[in-house]
Amino acid sequence: MSTYVFLNISARGHINPTLPIVKELGRRGEKVIYFVAEEYREVVEAVGAKFQALPPLTRPGGTGVNSAEPPGDKQIAVLPFIMAWQSTQVIPQLVENIRGIKADCLVYNAMSLWGRLSAHLLGIPAVGFRPFHAPRIHRSVVAPFASERLARLAAAADRELDQLARSFEQPSRNLHELVSEVEELTLVFMPKEFQFEAEAFDERFLFVGPSLFDDDAPERWPFEQPATDERLRAYISLGTLRNNEPEFYRTCFSAFNRREWQVVMSVGNQIDLASLQPFPDNFAVVRSVPQIALLPSVDVFVTHGGLNSTMESLYFGVHLVVVPSIGEQRLTASRVQELGLGIVLDHETLTPESLRRSARAVARDPGIRARVKAMQHKARTAGGFMRATEAIHRFATRG
Ligand code: UDP
Repeated sequence: MSTYVFLNISARGHINPTLPIVKELGRRGEKVIYFVAEEYREVVEAVGAKFQALPPLTRPGGTGVNSAEPPGDKQIAVLPFIMAWQSTQVIPQLVENIRGIKADCLVYNAMSLWGRLSAHLLGIPAVGFRPFHAPRIHRSVVAPFASERLARLAAAADRELDQLARSFEQPSRNLHELVSEVEELTLVFMPKEFQFEAEAFDERFLFVGPSLFDDDAPERWPFEQPATDERLRAYISLGTLRNNEPEFYRTCFSAFNRREWQVVMSVGNQIDLASLQPFPDNFAVVRSVPQIALLPSVDVFVTHGGLNSTMESLYFGVHLVVVPSIGEQRLTASRVQELGLGIVLDHETLTPESLRRSARAVARDPGIRARVKAMQHKARTAGGFMRATEAIHRFATRG
């Protein structure tokens, strides 16, 4: 039996693809210890991992972003600096804890700097995973939002990292070097055909496609009246992070308020439901649905373009209308558009008419149907969690 340590950040979409892998490792008699924020304790325990709390992470002052806002482009741009700063707080304790575990292999989110640093400082074989859509080559961590303030933050981050490396008597590496590094095995949760600039990804990247449990019984479509052949079924969700969007939901009410549609709308935990009422009769509005179990019954998914939602949609052959609002979602949306898997609409200029017209077109277009079917095949044959588990296990137990 080997011991695997998983390290992840606090985001449902980053944790979900790891869960079937953790469960499969457990089924094979391997031990998994999962470091993540306290709020995900039950989620990781449910798949058989031993939970370990990551210390609560505070933010440095002077980053110019409001931590109360949902993560957007500005927050993501300063994330590497924040993580460098947080690493000095988290790493000493984390490294101490992992050392005590005698782990055989670390499996960490490639976005998480403390995961990468812990692996380096401990010299334990490590596997990275990418539950996000990004180019292979990190452009300068400062360039996209170049400003004097960011240059100052980068310099401060490098000082923090240097201090940390010295305290462990290790050679120091700056932020850009660190975020550009790639483990010998890095799992990517999409088929290679979907990856933006796929040609830049070498054999260190294993494209396993969506990593999901697909043995759940399909969810009963949540309407008393079964849909007739003429009625189209739309599912609407903006994911788990940036979903407090009353205007968007009202646009959906107007777009789909006709007998032609049956709609399930998942609105998340942040919104005041009373402020959205009354709901049209043909809508089921809920805070959360078992999305994977629902998707097999859906004709069109109106999504924000989160990587998980997009992959899950394609895995079940569901046509897409993507309404992205941040850079990573726009990247995923642009792939959907380029590959002819759906239609992308601009969040700012969205109208009920443009949404209705696009959803109708997407539902019935034979070209989209054929291309989604081909991508569904790629998604299903990329290997998923089983291939990921085998690769991790082989990597950890090689001589
Ligand atoms: N999800 C779910 N039920 C919901 C809404 C979302 O199970 O009602 C899951 C969805 O299946 C996906 C994840 O939450 O696995 C959302 O991840 P994604 O990358 O699409 O978006 P994010 O939440 O990170 O923006």
